[in-house]
Amino acid sequence: MTPNKEDYLKELYKLGGSEHLINNKQLSQALKIAPASVSEMLAKLSQEALLVTEPYKGAKLTKEGIEIAVSLLRGHRLWEVFLIRHLGYSWSEAHEDAELLEHVSPVRLTNRLEGFLNYPEYCPHGNAIPNQMGQIKEGALTLLSTLTAGKTAIIKKVQEEKELLDYLQTQGIEIGSQITVLSVDDYEGPFTLTLGDKKIRISHKAACQIYVAARSETKNKE
Ligand SMILES: [Zn+2]
Repeated sequence: MTPNKEDYLKELYKLGGSEHLINNKQLSQALKIAPASVSEMLAKLSQEALLVTEPYKGAKLTKEGIEIAVSLLRGHRLWEVFLIRHLGYSWSEAHEDAELLEHVSPVRLTNRLEGFLNYPEYCPHGNAIPNQMGQIKEGALTLLSTLTAGKTAIIKKVQEEKELLDYLQTQGIEIGSQITVLSVDDYEGPFTLTLGDKKIRISHKAACQIYVAARSETKNKE
C-alpha cells in the first residue's frame, strides 16, 4: 500500500469514518486534495475492500480499513513521543517526521518502540495512543473556544497542524498546562488567558483547535 492511500484511511478515521459516512467534501478539505481526485481514490480503496462508498453520501471504513488506520496512528503517535523525548524535536517537527515514519513502521517495530518508551498513553499533542489491540480511549473534552471569562481549565489536546503547533509552542502552551480565561473579545476576537504567571492572547481560530478539561471535572475524577 502506498503512503498516499494510507493517508486517506487515516484521515477518514480521524474524521469519524469508522462509525459513519464521511462526505467527499469533508475529506477533500482535510487532505487538501481536489474533490475529483478524492473520488477517484475512494473508488480504488473501495475495490480493495478497505472502505464502502454510498453515492452522494460519502465513505465509511471497513474493519480492514480501520485496522490499517489505527496502526498508522499508533506508529505516528509513538514516534512523536520518541522524537520529542529522545531527540529534542519541537512539537511541529515531531509531527512532520512522524508523518513519514508511520508509513515504514512494521508492527514489530512499533511494539518494541512502545515498550522502549514504557507504554505512553498519549502523544505529545495529547492524542490517545491505540494499544496493541487497536483500542483507543478518547475522553470527552471541551473546546477552549466554548469557555467564558472566569473559567479555569487544563489543556488536554491540540490539533496536529504545523502552523498551529508552532504558534502554541511559542506561546508556551503545553499539554497539562492550567489556563484561566480572563476575557473573550467580541466578534470571534482573541482570548486573553493566564498561563502560569504569564498573560497570553490566542486567536479565536486557535481556541477552536484546543481541547480542554474544565478544572472542576478534573478534580472529581482524581
Ligand atoms: Zn501527536
